[in-house]
Amino acid sequence: MITHELLSKLARYYIDKYFSWLFQGPRENQFAVYEVLECRSKVMFTRSLPYTIVNTIISPSSIIGMLLHEGFGVVFSEECAGYCKIYSKEVEVDGVRYIINGWPDYYDGRKIIELKYTGHPVKEPEHKHVQQVRMYMWLTDAKIGYLLYITPRKVYEFEITDPMTDTEVVELLRNWTSPRDPSECSQCMFRSVCPYCVDKVEKREQATQDRESR
Ligand code: SF4
Repeated sequence: MITHELLSKLARYYIDKYFSWLFQGPRENQFAVYEVLECRSKVMFTRSLPYTIVNTIISPSSIIGMLLHEGFGVVFSEECAGYCKIYSKEVEVDGVRYIINGWPDYYDGRKIIELKYTGHPVKEPEHKHVQQVRMYMWLTDAKIGYLLYITPRKVYEFEITDPMTDTEVVELLRNWTSPRDPSECSQCMFRSVCPYCVDKVEKREQATQDRESR
């Protein structure tokens, strides 16, 4: 089946380009922007089982998003020439130094643009996406950022003018919860093995309450 061949090539391309570092051993105290903004337990699961990353690549919406990003990168390669790279910054949290790495979809030396693909209309930008743009602005020193949601019927644009501060980044690292947001668990591939999955935690709490009320 041709789909096997295409998916295999796409997955290899994407892993080689963006996730090869996952297979290169531990990178203690070094995190990517997208990692810091998601569940800590999920990050640790993905780092210890790097081949599971393929699950996030082969869904149809991921394929559309992936091809959109790659096409965008090609079309705007001239504007981003010299700026299309991984940016890094160090922060210290309670005496421990952390390195944060990020590769914005678009940065031309002045503005950041982060693309998102979704099949649904967008009323408000997702908090996590806004944080991602703000963190890229912090990393690159860009003063303005845009969040662009591409949907089948409309393009939604949100302007962001407040870069994340050092203090906010430190707080994100210091208070890195599992999950960051309870809604993360319902879509998480590790939910069946994760002790922090909100469903399980709620069930455990309910069982404890039931025992205590007997
Ligand atoms: S199930 Fe929830 S808490 Fe566990 S790794 Fe996934 S998102 Fe994080």
